[in-house]
Amino acid sequence: MGRGTQRDEGELADELAQAIERGEFRLEYQPIVRLGSGALAGAEALVRWRHPRRGTIPPNEFLPVAQAAGLIAGIGNFVLEEACRIAVGWPKPADRASFVSINVVPAQLADAGWSSYVLGVVADTGLDPHNLVLEMTGGAGGEAEAIEHSLESLREAGVRFALDDFGHATTLHDVKLLPVDLVKLDREFVAGVDGPPNEAAFALSLLGLADARGIEVVAKGIESREQAWRLAELGCRYGQGYFFSKPLGASGILAVLRQGVLRS
Ligand code: C2E
Ligand code: MG
Repeated sequence: MGRGTQRDEGELADELAQAIERGEFRLEYQPIVRLGSGALAGAEALVRWRHPRRGTIPPNEFLPVAQAAGLIAGIGNFVLEEACRIAVGWPKPADRASFVSINVVPAQLADAGWSSYVLGVVADTGLDPHNLVLEMTGGAGGEAEAIEHSLESLREAGVRFALDDFGHATTLHDVKLLPVDLVKLDREFVAGVDGPPNEAAFALSLLGLADARGIEVVAKGIESREQAWRLAELGCRYGQGYFFSKPLGASGILAVLRQGVLRS
């Protein structure tokens, strides 16, 4: 379909502007488990665009266009509202309430009114704020102060903050700069964890750093039992990836959460 041309992107941007009202976005949820036991901890919400002619378009293709066209806030609001609405119906066993993790961009967090909007959505849907995680990919740059300000009131209410792509787009600088509850270890380092020691050393040192700072780690893109096992052995608490499950629709994730455990 000749994706990537300027004309194509212009067309996509026009269509994106109407896609929210037309109800063309939907969310999938990828399970996040406790490594070692396989017990369900929560899920990450991932947006998809069901384009009427082009079929399903993945987020990496349309979000950069949305961002350039100034449309990210509308999509982000849909994601937050839909994810909270769905997650409030997830099972709540006494020992482990399931959290929903949503991806946000620095511009959302840097917007002065955004934190009270998020807390309003949480209150309206009835979701316990402790069961909401916001994931941001590093690179706060000049917006760090505004982001920190937003995070203050959100974290005070119990919302947790995760830095995504740790070791890749999220740098040590970001982790030092922002108040972080969780980091998501990039797939690039997860892939090396069961390899030769000089490859595994990267994951080991990033896990060591998180541990020293009292930050929990979610390993992303786990594709084999060996990786899951080795990460658990290295003290990584949470994981997600095709080894456990691909992203699922709302009824699929509910079934998995009710089941309570994925292969361990
Ligand atoms: P991410 O936050 O790093 O999400 C994980 C991506 O890795 C997802 O791709 C997921 O389907 C994929 N994945 C999960 N397990 C595996 C695995 O074992 N192997 C491999 N190769 N891939 C795996 P997806 O859904 O295409 O999302 C791509 C990116 O788009 C996300 O990366 C995130 O940065 C962004 N994104 C998705 N939804 C949203 C959203 O609602 N808002 C914003 N701002 N960004 C979003
Ligand atoms: Mg993410």
